[in-house]
Amino acid sequence: MNKVRVALVGAAGRMGKTLMALAPAEDVQIIAPFDSGDTIKAENVDVLIDFSSPEAAEAVCAEATKHNTPLVIGTTGHSAEQRYAIQLASGKIPIVLASNFSVGVNVLFSLTEQAAEILGENFHCEILEMHHEMKKDAPSGTARTLAEIVQKIRGGELRHGRKGILGERDKFEIGIHSVRGGDVVGDHTVIFAGKGERLELTHRATSRDTFARGALQAAHWIMGKTPRLYTMRDVLGQTTTLHA
Ligand code: NAD
Repeated sequence: MNKVRVALVGAAGRMGKTLMALAPAEDVQIIAPFDSGDTIKAENVDVLIDFSSPEAAEAVCAEATKHNTPLVIGTTGHSAEQRYAIQLASGKIPIVLASNFSVGVNVLFSLTEQAAEILGENFHCEILEMHHEMKKDAPSGTARTLAEIVQKIRGGELRHGRKGILGERDKFEIGIHSVRGGDVVGDHTVIFAGKGERLELTHRATSRDTFARGALQAAHWIMGKTPRLYTMRDVLGQTTTLHA
């Protein structure tokens, strides 16, 4: 396999360090590591990878489009404006945007889609996520993606947590609950609760390596693709009509 030459934004972070450590074994050369305070440059690289903070989105997109450099974005928690900037850039360059690069979570996306389609409106959907104490955004990007998958199929409002006298549950609402603590890499459970039975789909990540390997795989895959917004499900060859 040819080596992919990469510029990495967020190189000093937890994911950045994991990517740097795993890159050589995955035929990726990180030749331009950037972190807070640096001017991001995407000249003379094959792919730009971003695992930093949502605030970097505009600069990352501007630099990648300026040099026609494909982009792999793993950062989560983007605002509507930042998502729009990414969407706009994907008209000019290919971009993989994935809230989760692990193979298992992408299977969870498919299973959730299937369960939401098969189970009727009498099964109520709630999503639980737990992450380490240092995680900055809530809910997790993965929980957001899971909620959007269910919402696209059966509608309903997203309800972030519950407190007070709220009355009965709306049958279509999708509850999302974020738990923080310790060194949990990332747990997600999707609950479909019906009368007399309950289906729970759970994924637990025990190492950041799984996300890093997926992102490095996406860096190989994105080269030579036509401009568009892709997901990890495209990289893995999973067919879907939904964005994840
Ligand atoms: P972290 O806080 O450990 O690291 C983030 C790094 O980015 C820090 O070194 C910080 O200084 C740097 N940074 C912040 N803003 C920057 C900017 N504007 N320009 C350049 N560098 C900047 O966080 P982390 O655990 O490594 O996670 C990083 C991001 O990746 C988060 O959004 C997290 O939710 C996401 N994440 C995604 C996946 C996935 O599979 N998609 C997996 C894990 C984490």
